Amino acid sequence: MKLSILGSEWTIEYRNADADPILDGRGGYTDPSAALIVMANKRKDDDVRYFKEIQKRYLRHEIVHAFLFESGLGPNFEHSQYGHEETMIDWIAIQFPKMLKVFEEAGCL
Ligand SMILES: [Zn+2]
Repeated sequence: MKLSILGSEWTIEYRNADADPILDGRGGYTDPSAALIVMANKRKDDDVRYFKEIQKRYLRHEIVHAFLFESGLGPNFEHSQYGHEETMIDWIAIQFPKMLKVFEEAGCL
């Protein structure tokens, strides 16, 4: 899948975690050097009932990273290990669908 993020083309790939060691223990990751988001396919121990919803949340999380990278906020921004402040990124990823609904209801988009 291809996405346009702030005018740049990004690719989203879904991979099996055992084929990509970076996915070990993660739902996905963002590689700004390749404009690439890699998402983990379902693992044996993932809960089937909620996997798709969790995967969507993880994808939103990685897309927020991509927006930050594309807007010039990359390594060494706040979070010393990853460059981005993970709590705020996760907050946006979790709350955005609710915020979008409110924005639409309020007619402020
Ligand atoms: Zn993150």
